[in-house]
Amino acid sequence: MELTDLSTIQAVLKRHGFRFSKSLGQNFLIDPAVCPRMARECGADETTGVLEVGPGFGVLTRELSARAGRVVAVELDKGLLPVLGETLGSCRNVEIVQGDVLKLDLAELLKEKFGTMKISVCANLPYYITSPVLMRFLEERLPVSSLTVMVQKEAARRLCAPPGSRDCGAVSAAVSYYAKPQILFEVPRTSFYPRPNVDSAVIRLDVLDGPAVRVLSEKGFFALVRAAFGKRRKTILNSVSSGLGLEKEQVLRVLQDVGIPPATRAERLTLPQLADFANGLEELK
Ligand code: SAM
Repeated sequence: MELTDLSTIQAVLKRHGFRFSKSLGQNFLIDPAVCPRMARECGADETTGVLEVGPGFGVLTRELSARAGRVVAVELDKGLLPVLGETLGSCRNVEIVQGDVLKLDLAELLKEKFGTMKISVCANLPYYITSPVLMRFLEERLPVSSLTVMVQKEAARRLCAPPGSRDCGAVSAAVSYYAKPQILFEVPRTSFYPRPNVDSAVIRLDVLDGPAVRVLSEKGFFALVRAAFGKRRKTILNSVSSGLGLEKEQVLRVLQDVGIPPATRAERLTLPQLADFANGLEELK
């Protein structure tokens, strides 16, 4: 069965009485070149277990199944289970888990399904939960070596922007703390059915063995990052003192100690500078 062929898809949908849900981000890939490329670029081989989020009709799942040792796909929409039963019926190494990726106990799921296998995440993510899903894997330090995911093109730029560059925001700094991000390739809106209003890009986050910079307190570091990027147009002195509720003089002293000009904007700061700043503030406590 050719899952990127529109008439095949429509026939399967009709047989199972499936209706698309816009609120679940259901835009399915119909470009035959994209899924094989994603499956290849996520580095899956027979020794790897792949966790997919949102298999939809199973178009990417089938490509992953052909390369990986094992594939577990978490799908929220119960209405897709009979569809997946038909489209993935012959894939012996695939298991579908019905549930919400933001609510499942992922640590337990990964342990139960993959044991000691190397694990990668590969997914065409529902756009409404892109950052929460990625941050969940990174912040909870779930045992995955990489995440290869399709996201909105603008989100891809933000997620992969190195701190110190124009597109950088709080989420870019957070991603760079845990992983090495890169944009792999762009995917136009015409590659999806139904067609979304935005273009997409596939990114890959290679999870680091340890944080990219040394911080005295992760809680303090991320509070600083949120405050610094919370008011992008303010200087770092103003955004951090108001965001963290600190006296300007105190913040100024720390900035001077770590050699950051107080009129700098957050997006000009590199990750080591953000870490030095956070560590300086931590020492005030
Ligand atoms: N992988 C398919 C493809 O590439 O054609 C479908 C991708 S579609 C963009 C997103 C999928 O995620 C849909 O199947 C949707 O039902 C599912 N989904 C949405 N929210 C979810 C959640 N919280 N947990 C798990 N799956 C979810």
